[in-house]
Amino acid sequence: FLLAYDPAKRLGNLNVQLQRELVGVKRAFELIDHGKLEVSEGTDKLEAGRGALSFENVTFAYKHDVPTIKNLSFSAAPGEKVAIVGRSGAGKSTIINLILGMYRPSGGSILIDDTDISTVTLQSLRDAVSYVAQDTFLFSGSIRENVAFGQPNATEEGIVKALEAAQALDFVRNLPDGLDTDVGNNGANLSGGQRQRISIARAFLKDAPILLLDEATSALDGDTEKQLQAALDKLSANKTTITVAHRLSTILNAQKVIVVDAGEIVAEGTHETLQRESNVYKSLFVAHEIV
Ligand code: ADP
Ligand code: MG
Repeated sequence: FLLAYDPAKRLGNLNVQLQRELVGVKRAFELIDHGKLEVSEGTDKLEAGRGALSFENVTFAYKHDVPTIKNLSFSAAPGEKVAIVGRSGAGKSTIINLILGMYRPSGGSILIDDTDISTVTLQSLRDAVSYVAQDTFLFSGSIRENVAFGQPNATEEGIVKALEAAQALDFVRNLPDGLDTDVGNNGANLSGGQRQRISIARAFLKDAPILLLDEATSALDGDTEKQLQAALDKLSANKTTITVAHRLSTILNAQKVIVVDAGEIVAEGTHETLQRESNVYKSLFVAHEIV
């Protein structure tokens, strides 16, 4: 299984620039689907329940001297939708990386259902968390393989249901080989919106209680956008959802919005309260970080 699905191997044909851009995503998938990262892992099995998530005074630095995340605390109740907003470089993706266990905090802790994620195995952590990224990572292989990525026990019925839920079944059925169609290198045979729906189908199949979304800043065309949004809304229903948000519509749907600046939470609230009270929040609209 490992050999057949090894994304590092599939990356062999890509050009160097693209490979660099994909390194972060590749690492995420190594974590999510293979669990071979350099971070130390715990030995307990995470028994994720309803997916409560909290950061307690989390501090993290990529390089020893400069902290990227500073004493950051927030919580998401089971099923709650939390949007994280902030300028480019504020630390939003780093928060996601920390939840995925790709890096470990140097101070504080991250809890899922009251368990510190540094004490559990990466396998059990990744079973609890689905991640849908803005630059969807597909590997050369069939639609079926891409949806079942990391879930070797997936059934045909499960894959079809997941594609249907992700609003991808119609276009997949119209492809020359249906589920067996090769998506091409990094999904080159599919459109951006189609690739993303395959990745949403993957998350449907996995059905983890916690969902992490990283929204793109660039807009897709209207119809694609609507289909994607419908699929994502359905996927996030009943899941604890942390979204790095660039759409006002996402922010309006969230129960809680966290404004991150230079690795710290500078404001927290709803769109209405933040618009009144947070200059950083207001500046995100001027800078088109929120559209
Ligand atoms: P955002 O997602 O809000 O744009 P990031 O979390 O990606 O911000 O980055 C926060 C800061 O950490 C930035 O200054 C960025 O340059 C730095 N950074 C991000 N990834 C790494 C890395 N792998 N190594 C070193 N520094 C990084
Ligand atoms: Mg980012």
